[in-house]
Amino acid sequence: MKQTIRGTKDIFSPEIDLWVYLEHVARTTFTQFNYKEIRTPLLEYTEVFQRAIGESTDVVGKKMYTFNDRGDTSITLRPEFTAGVIRSAIQHDFLNKHLQKLFYFGPIFRYERPQKGRQRQFNQVGVECIGYDSVKSDVEIIVMSDLFLKNIGITTHIFKINTLGSKESRKRFTVELNSFLESKKSELSEDSQRRLTTNPLRILDSKSPQDRLVLSDAPLLSSFLSAEEVSRFESIKETLKLLSIPFEESNHLVRGLDYYSHFVFEITGTKLGSQDSLGGGGRYNNMFEEFGAKPTPCIGVSFGMERLILELEGQSNLLSKPTSVYILVAKQEYYSLALKLQSELISATLCCVYFDLAEKSFKNQMKEANNSEADFVLIIGEDEVANSTISVKNMKTSEQIVVKMEELANYFSKLS
Ligand code: AMP
Repeated sequence: MKQTIRGTKDIFSPEIDLWVYLEHVARTTFTQFNYKEIRTPLLEYTEVFQRAIGESTDVVGKKMYTFNDRGDTSITLRPEFTAGVIRSAIQHDFLNKHLQKLFYFGPIFRYERPQKGRQRQFNQVGVECIGYDSVKSDVEIIVMSDLFLKNIGITTHIFKINTLGSKESRKRFTVELNSFLESKKSELSEDSQRRLTTNPLRILDSKSPQDRLVLSDAPLLSSFLSAEEVSRFESIKETLKLLSIPFEESNHLVRGLDYYSHFVFEITGTKLGSQDSLGGGGRYNNMFEEFGAKPTPCIGVSFGMERLILELEGQSNLLSKPTSVYILVAKQEYYSLALKLQSELISATLCCVYFDLAEKSFKNQMKEANNSEADFVLIIGEDEVANSTISVKNMKTSEQIVVKMEELANYFSKLS
């Protein structure tokens, strides 16, 4: 039988509980910062990503799942959220609707070489903040990211921050960088030699030791920034210090997508090995123009959900489980009573209520209750039916009490 496609994964119990938890905390935290959820299609015209992300990036150049549909139109499976969200913001005129703070989560598709923490279908959760150019909006994204991570139970993350300056500053820097790297071409890794013609800035955050050695003498982007750009970055750093948010300055951080300018950042975890990036983001003030719309400053962040799950691995204490109740019947004819009790308890309480769906013996029902780690077992036996009562066994303490059938829902609603 065929298995899942390489780089994709089934997610099921018990891991799925962590996903539901993560989605819940994300929704709550971002909503508390006045962000509204957005769901864009998985499919977009290929041009949306080509325009917004840039042809020379790895994502567009090498990683997109692109195909012609039956009408011969080039379609791409979402390789990141930002382009689709901005396409939507322009299409529906979000600025006029004062819809400027948006969060999302869902699947992303990139044709990557799969390894731990790197898949071909993975999930991202993130936000886009549209129409603000203030340092306040830069800092708020970091504050919110920090709180989101803390709220899910991650406390050892680090923010690496940098500024890429404006398009113009970057252009002047790239000319210098290019001539420096051209002079050292033979000392660069194969990947970086190729990038020299397609996207030289990306060489800056290469992890290859060979490239790192060359880069130690490379010109610094920070020397090409205007006084205003420098002071903007200083102001972000001062505010982060004031808020006691730990960060490291990383002047080689450029991020993989062409659209970034000014403030950029990456958030690294501690348990992920080589794929240690939990998330990243930054300012992208030119994307509206790439789509032919009025220039509009934006900033965003997105986290890889698989990476967050890996970072949280083993912390099942984070999850709150509803009280689970197994209904055990002494005779098959009592099942209609079990069904009635199940509906009553489910509508009156938050308990999870279930029973044997086959025709198991009393003993095997007890085994099933044990295997499913039920918190309580309700026993419907002959005496119970005769007296309109239910025996309630607490599976943790083994204590057993008798409760009047009509009081059962009340008994459990107090517990849950
Ligand atoms: P990016 O959109 O490339 O900035 O990535 C944002 C975050 O998504 C990264 O920090 C990772 O946590 C996550 N991510 C990126 N690529 C993958 C992948 N192939 N598999 C799993 N997570 C990924």
